[in-house]
Amino acid sequence: MSVVPGSIIDTRGNQMFPVLQPDEVQRLRRLGEVRSYAAGEPLAKVGDAGHGLIIVLAGTVDITRRDASGTSVLITTYQPGAFVGEIAQLSGRPALVDACARTAVEALVIRPDRLRALLVAEAELGERIMRALILRRVGLIESGAGGPVLVGHAGSADVLRLANFLSRNGHPHHRLDPDTDPEARALIERFHVDLGHLPIILCPNGSLLRNPSEDDLARCIGLVRPIDPDRVYDVAIVGSGPAGLAAAVYAGSEGLSTLVLDCRSFGGQAGASARIENYLGFPTGISGMALMARAYNQAQKFGVEMAIPDEAVRLEAVPSSDCYVLQLINGERVTARSVVIASGARYRRPDVADLELFEGSSVHYWASPLEGKLCAGQEIALIGAGNSAGQAVVFLATQVAKVWLLVRGPGLRASMSRYLVDRIESLPNVEVVTHAQLTGLEGANGMLDAVRWRTRSGEEVRRAIRHVFLFIGATPNTDWLSGSGLALDPKGFVMTGSDVDPDRRPLETSRRGVFAIGDVRSKSVKRVAAAVGEGAQVVAALHTFLAQAPAGSRERRAIGSGRQEGDQMTIVHYQTVEHDDGWAALSQ
Ligand SMILES: Cc1cc2nc3c(=O)[nH]c(=O)nc-3n(C[C@H](O)[C@H](O)[C@H](O)COP(=O)(O)OP(=O)(O)OC[C@H]3O[C@@H](n4cnc5c(N)ncnc54)[C@H](O)[C@@H]3O)c2cc1C
Repeated sequence: MSVVPGSIIDTRGNQMFPVLQPDEVQRLRRLGEVRSYAAGEPLAKVGDAGHGLIIVLAGTVDITRRDASGTSVLITTYQPGAFVGEIAQLSGRPALVDACARTAVEALVIRPDRLRALLVAEAELGERIMRALILRRVGLIESGAGGPVLVGHAGSADVLRLANFLSRNGHPHHRLDPDTDPEARALIERFHVDLGHLPIILCPNGSLLRNPSEDDLARCIGLVRPIDPDRVYDVAIVGSGPAGLAAAVYAGSEGLSTLVLDCRSFGGQAGASARIENYLGFPTGISGMALMARAYNQAQKFGVEMAIPDEAVRLEAVPSSDCYVLQLINGERVTARSVVIASGARYRRPDVADLELFEGSSVHYWASPLEGKLCAGQEIALIGAGNSAGQAVVFLATQVAKVWLLVRGPGLRASMSRYLVDRIESLPNVEVVTHAQLTGLEGANGMLDAVRWRTRSGEEVRRAIRHVFLFIGATPNTDWLSGSGLALDPKGFVMTGSDVDPDRRPLETSRRGVFAIGDVRSKSVKRVAAAVGEGAQVVAALHTFLAQAPAGSRERRAIGSGRQEGDQMTIVHYQTVEHDDGWAALSQ
């Protein structure tokens, strides 16, 4: 296999491709079934879903990826003791690589639910397998292998939208720009695509999508699947930012059947943070995406179902039942005995003419490496004075020639953490303009040519700037709750606990069994750690509610109970009877 120096295969190849010892394989035999494959027969094919982990018992298996033209490229060859799979197999999502028997092969196939149970039950072995699954995904993301091929011009708003969507969902993809890539031009000719109709996406299953919506793309690559309309979940969580993911990890690990919905990607606002420096336990800081990807994988390990992207548009109580229904934008519905609202907040937009004409291509609300690359070496304007603005400035200053930081007030110290202010003051290519107000955007075809702002003296400044970043705060994502009857505060945040009723449980809204956590909750502390803390806390309240509520429309059983350390409350673990998550096999 060709290895790029410094790539993850180069640096962590041993952890990516561990070989299980014969006694370990023997222990795992009870979890799977043994299958035989003839030489040349596929064990897994790109796009096929649900095959789980495949441990090679005898023979050799070639793992290959397909490049943009569909040609197979060898990644590695597995010997007995090695296993086929990456993180998608935890949830039975489509394979991103091909696995083909080079010789006659005998293999142990462990389906996804049993794989999850194995990861939880076998601490040391589970850790090794989980690490390998994650590192393999990282390797695929690094090389762009296994995912869709996105063909379009680098500066296009739609290319950025689709690339951002795939990156934020941790999905590998390959970008080809017809301005610089002969391969892109060859694909455009092969599929007879008019240049005006770019971008196009070639999916691993062979489908060609023309400038698709995120939802169409997600369904084509198997990122999101239909929801079982008959299933009743213990809890449905709306939002997969830090609050929703924390609630998912604790709910899943404590045996609650859990579904998480997000209309965009996992990670929420935190996933957009270039570097979180104040989260406990990460003294050197951690990128928001890295932190959130860990939580996302952790939740899936505990059997949490993810529906991303899927947007909740309405919350309703089911008459004559103790359940709630979430109506989704695509017409699907989710039924659950309790609901956790973790839908966070969204960026505010300034009142300036023609803003929407430039959004996506020249006006940005995130500062990820994608945007950094887009404005490399240029002058940019960034508006805002909070911590999110500060982090974006610190990151972008390493990429661009100059940052004009436009601040409405007299300075940064009142609204930004001191460490960020100090760092910004030490950056030679950042100029802070106080008492500044954005007054105009000039350009054509979605691309900015110039930006205007007014200073304290009333003078209007005009500069040739092609990219503007807006970090001016957020409003709660609660539009979808109109008609739900939930009590909101005057700013639209969801009220909980004693603010709605003296007898209400903490984090419970004005409706029993509906909880709100994180940034969307009235009076919450708008921080990652606070959101995570509320996500953990709400699960205790869920247990109490579910233990007291009627049994619901499906037969359910308690699978165990225990006292949480440092907590006075007895926790009861519930699980729907027909949901076999593999625990049975492990306890044999
Ligand atoms: C750029 C940036 C940097 C930051 N840096 C830091 C930092 O360094 N330290 C810190 O402590 N805090 C930081 N914050 C704040 C922190 O990210 C938030 O407090 C935290 O993310 C809130 O988490 P949450 O889960 O409550 O909501 P969010 O993170 O907002 O997540 C909510 C999720 O709900 C989804 N959603 C919304 N409506 C629906 C719907 N109808 N259906 C389905 N899904 C829906 C959204 O897509 C989103 O993914 C930063 C924020 C930003 C924007």
